[in-house]
Amino acid sequence: MNTVEITHVAQDKTIERAPFTPNMRVANLTDYLICFYDGRDIASYPDWLQSNIDMQLGVCCYVIHRGDKAIIFDTMLYKEHILWIDRFIRDMGIRHVSVINSHWDCDHIAGNFLYKNSDIISTSTTRLKIESNAELFRTGEIWALAGDPYYPGVEEVVLPNRTFDGRMTLHLDDIEIELIETFVHQFGHLVAYLPKDKILLAADACEDTVPFNTMAMTSELPLQLRTYRQIAAIPAERVYPCHGRFDVIANGGYTQDFTEAMIAYNLQLIDRMDSGDFLTDPLESFIEPALARGTLALHEPYRALHANNVNLIHRIYGSRGKPIVSR
Ligand SMILES: [Zn+2]
Repeated sequence: MNTVEITHVAQDKTIERAPFTPNMRVANLTDYLICFYDGRDIASYPDWLQSNIDMQLGVCCYVIHRGDKAIIFDTMLYKEHILWIDRFIRDMGIRHVSVINSHWDCDHIAGNFLYKNSDIISTSTTRLKIESNAELFRTGEIWALAGDPYYPGVEEVVLPNRTFDGRMTLHLDDIEIELIETFVHQFGHLVAYLPKDKILLAADACEDTVPFNTMAMTSELPLQLRTYRQIAAIPAERVYPCHGRFDVIANGGYTQDFTEAMIAYNLQLIDRMDSGDFLTDPLESFIEPALARGTLALHEPYRALHANNVNLIHRIYGSRGKPIVSR
């Protein structure tokens, strides 16, 4: 597996991309919730695909279903993914599909093209971000900005057509779904809370091993921390991320201790930003208690995300000074 650095690389437009069939892992989490997972275990995939950081981290989406209706929470990274998932749920008898995009990153919207005649729901910010970056998505350059020279681009850029700000409540028969805009990871990011079984679909708010703090969020770490505390206050008993361990997801999910681990990690980033070893200290040293509790497990490719996180902090706060945050 190639080590990926989260930095802009030149796009390779000459490469012949060998086709692939996803080795999709499927877990029925409840009688109305399914996880579709790919990645981490990618040695058998073509080389061009192995240099994608999300395939290395592991990436998944969720389908909420009742009768012949379903809502797909994020449409994955490659068209092969969504075609595989769509076939699976059609075989289950699903005839009517709606979509939620948790945020505008490519691994959450690439499959929108398949549902352009359906409801596609997101925050208005997410729609704006997809719209304003449409050309980067189409050409695949969006991924060259994050270290993958081979991303083929999305089949067709399809924008969300039902948007909201703040909160929105949906119902799929008896299943209530509260969409909550959250200031973590990317502008416009949302999480979904299903009160029926106290389930939180956390998207990229919580990642195992560490969160991906983008430029926008790193600039506003105190706001991000406050938002994490709001997420931690949601009375969820099961937390499901889009980038985590499949075995945890398939066996009851994470708990809110996962969100607490994201808070503790961000506090470590703030506390240690002036230390001389900040950029070189190993990732383990920033998450020791959560590793010891088993809440997080070190997955090697996450070192690239941690390197991104500390370097962004160094650039942004080097001259600005350490932000004051409440404990
Ligand atoms: Zn993601």
